[in-house]
Amino acid sequence: MRYFPAFLDLDGRRALIVGGDEAAARKLRLLRKAKAWVTVVAPEAVPEIAELAESGEIAWVARTFEAGDVLGQDVVVSATGLSPVDESVAKAARTAGRPVNVVDRPDLSSFITPAIVDRDPIVIGISSGGSAPVLARRIRAQIESLLPAKLGRLADFAESFRGAVAATIAPAGRKRFWERFFDGPVAEAVLKGHERGARERMLSLVNSPAARAREAGIVHIVGAGPGDPDLLTFRAMRLIQDADVIFYDKLVGPEIVDYARRDAERVYVGKSKGNHSKSQDEINTLMAEAAAAGKRVVRLKGGDPFVFGRGGEEADYLRALGHTVEVVPGITAATGCAAAADIPLTFRGVAQAVTFVTGHAADGEPDLDWAALSDPRQTLVIYMGVSTAGTIAQRLIEHGVETARPVAIIENGTRANQKVVKGSLGELESLVEQNAITGPALIVVGEVVKLAGADALPELARAANG
Ligand code: SAH
Repeated sequence: MRYFPAFLDLDGRRALIVGGDEAAARKLRLLRKAKAWVTVVAPEAVPEIAELAESGEIAWVARTFEAGDVLGQDVVVSATGLSPVDESVAKAARTAGRPVNVVDRPDLSSFITPAIVDRDPIVIGISSGGSAPVLARRIRAQIESLLPAKLGRLADFAESFRGAVAATIAPAGRKRFWERFFDGPVAEAVLKGHERGARERMLSLVNSPAARAREAGIVHIVGAGPGDPDLLTFRAMRLIQDADVIFYDKLVGPEIVDYARRDAERVYVGKSKGNHSKSQDEINTLMAEAAAAGKRVVRLKGGDPFVFGRGGEEADYLRALGHTVEVVPGITAATGCAAAADIPLTFRGVAQAVTFVTGHAADGEPDLDWAALSDPRQTLVIYMGVSTAGTIAQRLIEHGVETARPVAIIENGTRANQKVVKGSLGELESLVEQNAITGPALIVVGEVVKLAGADALPELARAANG
């Protein structure tokens, strides 16, 4: 290890910044976050520095650097970008025994600053020892996406209960208490910003052994999006990585389930038409058992759990048993597939509304309001409609929709094997057959289909002229 990682306590300490441009301002922001008293030495400065000096929050000495400026400073930063100046700052600081950082010049620096993930009071510094700063920043971006935005609030929240926990819970049980806390519903509520409620629940946990024993489990019902793992939300990603057990559907691909920890239990509970591997009752029971055992349970569903996903029924069942249920939205197939196929679902002057319906039919005939669905100024998105495509087209046409209305079928949308076929409503059933559509597929009906990508230009010109 070339550099020793350390965190400097600069609260109320003196920091010198030499230089007055944007690079200096960036260092200034950081040093002020650490509550240092900052003096800037520079003949000219960006407005941000000038204004802070004006209001007395920092000092600005408007002249060029002199070696004596480093005296009395706890830390020195040079950000002039001018080699001779940077070199004399570094030399003066070293002579005076002051730690010095020169921006972009590790050779002149006695310390370097890492890329930072800031969830104050949790702070993560990432350094490549100056060898690959761009890589360090990419790693930072990856860590950023994994850590909840309110992680710092959670640390503060826990801190505020430290004394109370120490007073009421015997030392032997304390670590276990905190482990359960950070995995449990109260911490989750803090991360979601529901701090007041969390505080009340925490008080009862801290004060009542009975409440601690009763503490039920938590189940996250998480939307996994339409297939492309990049379309997961940050929260979904984090919960998948934290889960002890994951119950996942057929629509959730292995790339996504593989984000789970290696020791996490993965339970496939997929249902495909006419071939239910587990009944809904069995799934419910398994989830409830896992939650009652204190596991972190993630129920992973394709798309959004509350769009044709039975997420609502599962949530009701678990809540009735006293478990906490958190629902994490996902990109639903309609929006994911439309974007992937470049079809705008609404478009000014073409479609003012978009309607999601299920083509699923209990007894051969989808139960839909055909008259309402035939309005030409809307886009119709049909989930689970492949096997009833013929009937759907027929009913729409009977209710006045012209056979020429454009349709698109998007199979395996957003995935590597995505297939998009287009045609008209009159030929919908044969499109399904001729293209051997068998995977999960969405049917889009409406004029917007013509606005997709390369097809769009003449259509847009027509819309503009008409
Ligand atoms: N909750 C899911 C929908 C579940 S119903 C969501 O919000 O997306 C299952 C239906 O969703 C499938 O029959 C298909 O119509 C559609 N679907 C899901 N993922 C899809 C994909 N990647 N491509 C096309 N259609 C998809």
